[in-house]
Amino acid sequence: MSSSSIETIAVHTGEHSDPNHPASSPDLTMASTFLMDTAEGFSINAFEDERPLMYTRWGNPTTLLLEKKLAAMESAEACLALASGMAATSTLLLGLLKSGDHVIVTPIHYPGTSELIRDLLPRFGISSSVVDPTDTAAIANAITPATKMIWIETPVNPTLAITDIKACADIAKAHKIQLVVDSTLATPIATRPIELGADFVVHSLTKYVGGHGDALGGCILGSKATLETLLSEAHVHYGGVISPFNAWLIVRGIATLPIRMRQHEETAMQIALFLDQHPEVARVNYPGLPSHPQHDLAKQQMANFGGLLSFQAKNRKRLLKRLPRDFKLFHHAVSLGHVRSLICYVDTEEVISASYNLNSTQQSAYRDWAGEGLFRISTGMENADELCEDIANVLGN
Ligand SMILES: *Cc1c(COP(=O)(O)O)cnc(C)c1O
Repeated sequence: MSSSSIETIAVHTGEHSDPNHPASSPDLTMASTFLMDTAEGFSINAFEDERPLMYTRWGNPTTLLLEKKLAAMESAEACLALASGMAATSTLLLGLLKSGDHVIVTPIHYPGTSELIRDLLPRFGISSSVVDPTDTAAIANAITPATKMIWIETPVNPTLAITDIKACADIAKAHKIQLVVDSTLATPIATRPIELGADFVVHSLTKYVGGHGDALGGCILGSKATLETLLSEAHVHYGGVISPFNAWLIVRGIATLPIRMRQHEETAMQIALFLDQHPEVARVNYPGLPSHPQHDLAKQQMANFGGLLSFQAKNRKRLLKRLPRDFKLFHHAVSLGHVRSLICYVDTEEVISASYNLNSTQQSAYRDWAGEGLFRISTGMENADELCEDIANVLGN
């Protein structure tokens, strides 16, 4: 039997039953501190083992299980789990960069990430430049001697724009700088950036990986040597560790990630096609539709188009008014990757103000594409025909 398929890894990797009570499902170790059998020191520098079971901020058996599973699924040497996707993002940026360094980013990212890089990093003397990822020459041209990192997100939350990871990895390697990929929307089921040459992968585990809308979590995947340094310099000292309970919930979610992603994709495709022919809909954005501007890249880079899509309504104001109360199944809520279907409104001017300092060409390109705003759907595990019926009732005509 081969145990290298992602479905089997998702269920079994990292798990072993405790010989004292051979349960078939993993234990949850809710402990902040552990009994020590040697008189070891109090500082991370005093330990030979990089993850001593001494205090949960250093390591915890449930968290270690989550990290092992995620590393195996992403083909990474090592994984560091943290309290949220933003804890992973801030830990990686602050852990790898120092005053005087420069980062290259793409025009729109998850708002938490762009606000952090745009507003907070300059306080530590770290600058950034925005480049169009479809123009690889522009990325190479933006690299200066101070550039240490290219940070991309693919697909982008909320625009679903896709960046060519392999092309960025080739540029990063040629210039000996690091490529980080926020792969939250893709998940390891669709794309494994490290196999394409990325140095680090970041996930918000809160989304598809956890998959049940009940636990915040995040992780960084990359080389063992760098993550060990990050663990002692950043994880232990910044302290953004994940609760073992959340780690346990996310481990449980991972077991069904491969089949959930199949269902997310099937339902999202059905809703995308339904919306595409609906008279009240002006435009549908889904990487699985041939009309997506990067559909060919999506086909090449993603084994699954995911469960997130967005659309422009012809009568935006009417749908906005109906949004909070008229859906019977969809929850009017932010976030994604939940078992429940969610819908929210993504206002164009808000996206622009939460993005990097976009120049006027980048701003008008976004306005031309998104209109005044988009309705974003995260498909859940409900019946797809019933979800379409719910949308049809609210969209009306
Ligand atoms: C949600 C999200 C984050 C932040 O994750 P949290 O777990 O909410 O902190 C980062 N990147 C992307 C792409 C996201 O969708």
